[in-house]
Amino acid sequence: MKCDTCGKEVLNVKRIILEKGYDRTQARAIYNCEECYKKKETDIEKRTQDKVKGENK
Ligand SMILES: [Zn+2]
Repeated sequence: MKCDTCGKEVLNVKRIILEKGYDRTQARAIYNCEECYKKKETDIEKRTQDKVKGENK
């Protein structure tokens, strides 16, 4: 299978749903290799934390 982010052929890909918290019909599923998956996870975590910080202000 192919990683949707870097385009590398990998044996195992992980499915990620983007746009967490949005309307589920608009959520997009992408397939990522282990490396990109970890990056995406960190990104999503950061974004979520930023949002929470902003709301608490
Ligand atoms: Zn990748």
